[in-house]
Amino acid sequence: MIRPLVVLGATGSIGTQTLEVAEALDIPVAAIAARNPSEELTRIAKGLPDALVAVAGGSGEERDALRGHLGDRVRFGSEGVLEISSLTDVTVVNGIVGSAGLRASISALEAGNRLALANKESMVAAGELVNRALENGGGELIPVDSEHSALFQCLEGESPQAVDRLVLTASGGPFRGMTKAELAGVTPDQALDHPTWDMGNRITIDSATLFNKGLEVIEAHYLFDVPYDRIDVVVHPQSILHSAVAFVDGSWKGHIGHADMRIPIQFAITAPARESTPTPEFSLVGIELSFEKPDRATFPALDLAYEAGIRGGSAPAVLNAADEVAVEAFLGGRLGFLGIPEIVERTLEEVEWREPRTVEEVIQADSEARAVAAGMIAGSC
Ligand code: MG
Repeated sequence: MIRPLVVLGATGSIGTQTLEVAEALDIPVAAIAARNPSEELTRIAKGLPDALVAVAGGSGEERDALRGHLGDRVRFGSEGVLEISSLTDVTVVNGIVGSAGLRASISALEAGNRLALANKESMVAAGELVNRALENGGGELIPVDSEHSALFQCLEGESPQAVDRLVLTASGGPFRGMTKAELAGVTPDQALDHPTWDMGNRITIDSATLFNKGLEVIEAHYLFDVPYDRIDVVVHPQSILHSAVAFVDGSWKGHIGHADMRIPIQFAITAPARESTPTPEFSLVGIELSFEKPDRATFPALDLAYEAGIRGGSAPAVLNAADEVAVEAFLGGRLGFLGIPEIVERTLEEVEWREPRTVEEVIQADSEARAVAAGMIAGSC
């Protein structure tokens, strides 16, 4: 049976597409959450009169106005987001951007819910803690990220011993084939123009630097318990093969289809069942698939992520937090494109490595990395 949905990040790219899926399949929405009050949030909430609404931020005035529109079904602050994440017998779709989504992932799993996870930062920064919450709560964790949804589907019914390698595909982003000199002058607008996927701002910039793929390697490691030396990345500009698994007998399974996030979102909600989608029919006829090695020298973010993943402990959380700060600075015109991996590398060197045992300790590593990265960016201007 499909459970009611809790949609975190309801006004974002994943959130709005999740609400489309819910409407098409007539799935009830128990609650929604957004970072701040907005006209968009009010509009969505008015269309879902029975849903609780949680808002993490906003000024006193904005909050009063929202309460005026929606009444006492509104919750404020991060406690409100955690309250709706730990409702029972729901599927929590976590489409929050960045490490802000971590606590919500843990709450959803501790309450025994199904977590449809689009917030890859939860897995990157705190993979072991998320897995522990999954085990303790007895819920389910189904990835929404297209590559991991593909891997999840390829791995269904297979034993861990049967798996040789995971192969993540990367579109290569808008700057594939460029040299370092050419990358030095690229603008946010150029970086935001992704060739195949329509996504939020941070992930689109991360796709251009290949940080996104690096974060996804770490995400895959924690989701599927496969060591880093058996996770590969291959550039596949058409984004038709969403990822593949190589098995020990030489067989491969891959997941093929349109580059449309509504498909993995829907699968995470309906799995193991499948329902039809409004996506146009897919055909192999006329499609050409090509694959190449990633250019690791021009796009150092990928190797930085592998190194942080292998170091483990606080390193992936630091990597992620430094990248969030650097991407924001790039979008704000305060940092060049090549400065993004530089800031991340230097932050990893600067922040002391630790072994976080609690969510608070992960958040502490995250905050420290943010402060260090922000200081470096301010200092270099
Ligand atoms: Mg992805």
